[in-house]
Amino acid sequence: QTAEHREKCAFYDNSLTERMKMEQELNDLFDSSIKNHDFKVYLQPKIRLETNRAEGAEALVRWIHPEKGVIYPSDFIPLFEMNGKICSLDFYIFTQVCQTLRAWIASGKNPIPVSVNLSRQHFLEHNFLKKFADIAKEYEIPPGMIEFELTESIFFDNRQINVVKEMIRQMHQLGFLCSLDDFGSGFSSLGLLKEFDVDTIKLDRSFFVNMAGEKAKDVIACLIELSKKLKVHTVAEGIETDEMVEYLRMIKCDMVQGYIFSRPIPISEFEERYI
Ligand code: C2E
Ligand code: CA
Ligand code: CA
Ligand code: CA
Repeated sequence: QTAEHREKCAFYDNSLTERMKMEQELNDLFDSSIKNHDFKVYLQPKIRLETNRAEGAEALVRWIHPEKGVIYPSDFIPLFEMNGKICSLDFYIFTQVCQTLRAWIASGKNPIPVSVNLSRQHFLEHNFLKKFADIAKEYEIPPGMIEFELTESIFFDNRQINVVKEMIRQMHQLGFLCSLDDFGSGFSSLGLLKEFDVDTIKLDRSFFVNMAGEKAKDVIACLIELSKKLKVHTVAEGIETDEMVEYLRMIKCDMVQGYIFSRPIPISEFEERYI
């Protein structure tokens, strides 16, 4: 063993324990943070290109800890997916979204549909959708105001194909909408379109980061055209430039979500700007 190798290992061990310590800490904080309402819903508008208005929003969680500051989903979602805490978090976020929609409806404002992200961990629990439906009912929210975003990768698990199909069927039966998130981030995404009855596809950000070539543009245009034929709505994600917005407008993508219009923002700010 060289000195360098030993050093690298020491560094590795060290950062690994650091990481484990941090994860342990976040784990321990979860319950009290739920109680103290430290998890906040941020909303990012989805702009319909035909009207230039926010006609939808995605709920994205932010953990705002009094001492640690803002913690982003990438730092805790994977962790909470491993230990199952993600399900209680998703229910919490969903409840906040229902409360928000109720406030919009009650104040006579024009409410817009909101989508929430659903972790695959929920599938392990039989009949979990009923729980979501009960919450929506409690707040008297028409289920059509709520869309569940399912990330593409869950559709690839062959063992889950029928589970996912059945779940989408149940969602629709309960009146909820369903979108296929991160579409195109994996291989053979096209097959998913024919197999699963989703209302919307969200074209993954990776499509748009490398858009220099004509070929890339043509692929997106074809996907939009195909979606129209299949009567599936399209949302382009992670759009950061005017040029891209104009291109998407030209090929008739339905909606755009991205920093070019707004980052995810707190609910109060969202209401001021869009409701
Ligand atoms: P996602 O569902 O694909 O959400 C879109 C992510 O892209 C968000 O990151 C959003 O802030 C970011 N984004 C939006 N527009 C742009 C843009 O123009 N440029 C760039 N570079 N990024 C943009 P965020 O909020 O950090 O969330 C990351 C992921 O964490 C989400 O990816 C989602 O998979 C997961 N997540 C967030 N909230 C929840 C939740 O409440 N429940 C569950 N299960 N997962 C969640
Ligand atoms: Ca999403
Ligand atoms: Ca996405
Ligand atoms: Ca993503």
